Amino acid sequence: MSGGSPRPFVLVVEDEQALVELLRYNLEQAGFRVAVALDGEAALAAVRDELPDLVLLDWMLPLVSGIEVCRQLRRQAATANLPIIMLTARGEEGDRVRGLDAGADDYVAKPFSPAELVARIRAVLRRIRPALADATLTYGDLVMDLVSHRVTRGGQPVHLGPTEFRLLRHFMEHPGRVFSREQLLDAVWGRDVYVEARTVDVHIRRLRLALNVDDRPDLIRTVRAAGYALDATPG
Ligand code: CA
Repeated sequence: MSGGSPRPFVLVVEDEQALVELLRYNLEQAGFRVAVALDGEAALAAVRDELPDLVLLDWMLPLVSGIEVCRQLRRQAATANLPIIMLTARGEEGDRVRGLDAGADDYVAKPFSPAELVARIRAVLRRIRPALADATLTYGDLVMDLVSHRVTRGGQPVHLGPTEFRLLRHFMEHPGRVFSREQLLDAVWGRDVYVEARTVDVHIRRLRLALNVDDRPDLIRTVRAAGYALDATPG
């Protein structure tokens, strides 16, 4: 984390002991302070005890479900805007929508890579608690400095135009997630700007050319009939 700022405090709500240990280790390595609650009731008590900067909330919990914990936190003034990321083994679109409807800020499906989860936590914090977030985004060998606007891959500078920079930033804030051309237009160009969907393809091509030098693996995945994602996994 950047010097001087306090370590962001993350409450992990998860009943699976092995996953708790994995999360604790990776979050502490990434510079977060971590507390753990093993069920929904303990989570609500822990939040009353010390307000975290972000809650990582498992969907399937004993006593009170993650969805119900999320709803209860949203109903109380003190926690109405508390950043919440739901974790779940379910990957279906309906569940994702229910999770976001209940008030979660983001949603990560199990199994996830710890690096991706840390990136998502930083992205949510950056959106909601900018002072707590790191000034750099990383994904694999890719590093984006949000202050200087410099991008490197494997330590080598990557030269991007302003649109490609915004496009890559959006992908790095939501690694692994597939965005349609329309969603990318809204996020990167803005809702009020009229740009044809195929313009997205042009800028994706430029972004790929800039990123994939020296035969490095392509980091942008094209999802047929769906859109694009930042994704380092082959296939
Ligand atoms: Ca669980």
